[in-house]
Amino acid sequence: MLFLPRKFKIAVIGTEADRAATQVHDVGLHVVTNDAGELGFEVIVGGGLGRTPIIGKTIRKFLPREHLLSYLDAILRVYNLHGRRDNKYKARIKILVDSLGGDQFAKLVEAEWEAHTKDGPLTLTDDNFDTAASYFSMPDYQSFDALAVQSELQQQLNADKDFANWYNQNTVAHKVDGYRAVVISLKAGLVDGRYVPSGDLSDAQMDALADLSDRYSFGELRGTYQQNLVFADVQTNELYELWQQLSDLHLARANINTLTDMIVCPGWDYCSLANATTHNIAEQIEKQFDDLDYLYDLGDIRLNMSGCMNACAHHHTGDIGILGVDKKASTGIRLALAVTLVMTPNWAKS
Ligand code: SF4
Repeated sequence: MLFLPRKFKIAVIGTEADRAATQVHDVGLHVVTNDAGELGFEVIVGGGLGRTPIIGKTIRKFLPREHLLSYLDAILRVYNLHGRRDNKYKARIKILVDSLGGDQFAKLVEAEWEAHTKDGPLTLTDDNFDTAASYFSMPDYQSFDALAVQSELQQQLNADKDFANWYNQNTVAHKVDGYRAVVISLKAGLVDGRYVPSGDLSDAQMDALADLSDRYSFGELRGTYQQNLVFADVQTNELYELWQQLSDLHLARANINTLTDMIVCPGWDYCSLANATTHNIAEQIEKQFDDLDYLYDLGDIRLNMSGCMNACAHHHTGDIGILGVDKKASTGIRLALAVTLVMTPNWAKS
C-alpha cells in the first residue's frame, strides 16, 4: 500500500514567468526544452507555505516528457519509504526534503526510478500525448493589417490617458499578431466611495463578463493566481471597445501589479479559521493608495494578506506579507496584524 503525504499538490507551468507558484508546491513542473529541442520537465519538489514555508528544490533539470509519470511515481515511493507518519503536521514532502536535503532526496528518487519505475507501464507514448493534445484546439485567429491596427491603437492611446494606463498595466503581449491578453482587475477599490472587496464580483458583473468573453475572447475566461480574470485572446483592434464596456462595469481599474492588486484571503468575513479580518485592512490600504499615478511611481509591488497561518493568500511570497495572528493576553485574546517583509523569490516576478 502506498501512503500519500497529508497533502500533495502539483503545479505546472509552460511559461518563463511562474504564474502557478510552482516553487511553493509539493511538486512543481516547468515545461522546458533541452539543447536538442526535446520537450521535458524541470522537476522541483518540497515547496510549501502555511506554518512551514519552504522553497522547493530542483531535483532534475530535464526529465524527458515520456518519463513524467514514472518519475512522479518514484517521488511518491521515496516519500512512502521515508516520510513521517507519526505527526500529521510533518506528513508532507516538504518536511522530508528539508530534513534529507535536496541532493539526497534527488539521489533516492533517481535510484528508485532506475530500479523500479523507469520504462515501466507508466511510460508515456506519443499516442498518449497526441490523445491529450486532441482535446485542445486553437481558437479561430484572424489575420490583420498590422500597420493599420497599430496606427489606430496609437491614436486611441494618445487620445485617452485612462485607456493608455489600462493598456499598459492590464494587457499583455500575445504570441499571435493582432491579439493581446487582457487582465481584468477584480480589485476595483473604491467605487462611488464604497470599498469593493478584492476578488468580489456581483451576479450582474458575472453575467456581463460571460457575454463579453463570448464577444471578445472566444467564449473563454480564466481565473488567475492573483485573484483576477483574463480574456486570453482579444483582438488589438477591439481593445478600446472592450475597455469602455469593462469601465461601465467598474472592471477596468488599471492597477495590475501595483500595490492595490492585492491577494486577500476572506479572513473573518467568511472563514472560521481566521484570526483577523482582512478586508477592513485592504479597505484602509485602498483609501490610502487610491491615486493611480502614485501607485505607478511606487512600481510593481506584491502585497498578500492572509487571515491566519494557513497562508491561503501566500503572504510569504509577497514583497509585503500581512498575516493575522492571535496572541493570548492576560485579559483574553488580543488580535494583531504582523507585517512581514520577505525576500521575494525570483519566480514571483520572473
Ligand atoms: S489564510 Fe486562514 S483565514 Fe485566510 S482563508 Fe485561509 S484558513 Fe481562512
